[in-house]
Amino acid sequence: MGRTDSIRSCAGCRQKGDRDVLLRLVLSGDPPELVPDVRRRAGGRGVSVHPTRTCLTKAVRTGALKRAFRRELSPDVDQLASWAGGQYGRRIDGLLSSAHRAGKAVAGSERVREAVRERQALLLVVASDARGDRDEIMRSAERLGGACLVHSDRQALGRLFGRESIAVAAVTDAGIAEELQVAARCVAELAEAS
Ligand SMILES: [Zn+2]
Repeated sequence: MGRTDSIRSCAGCRQKGDRDVLLRLVLSGDPPELVPDVRRRAGGRGVSVHPTRTCLTKAVRTGALKRAFRRELSPDVDQLASWAGGQYGRRIDGLLSSAHRAGKAVAGSERVREAVRERQALLLVVASDARGDRDEIMRSAERLGGACLVHSDRQALGRLFGRESIAVAAVTDAGIAEELQVAARCVAELAEAS
């Protein structure tokens, strides 16, 4: 982070930022359509924008996209934001399942409680439909300084950990916890109305 070759300008607010915190937009399909490229893997020309409704809207309204791609584009900001939010959500899935495979996350109330007690838990991930344990989990999260994100549902969360369903997981690796929080912030900001 911070190397000059990784600095990009946001096409919305024009402020510079590290490309890792900016959302890349590319053209795809025929006729070409503007799509998010959260993984920054798509070939061709790309434009960076803060992953917020405000900056997406600005980038569309000010003609910055048109100039960058040299063609008339009138994307639906709501749809772009929702696609990008979906991609960040899948990024969270990917980070969680690789944390699980690397032994850097634990799942299920019992093991999470243990990880919190032993001060190994750095971030809690709670299924949106976790009910019974939720209050207790939230209290644990408070002890962790509020490091808690609500993601997915019990079944989908379970799949990432090779289980039928889980209500809560704890990440024990600082780097992964940080990446998860960045992605979760993007999901939240893209979901907000501009
Ligand atoms: Zn911006």
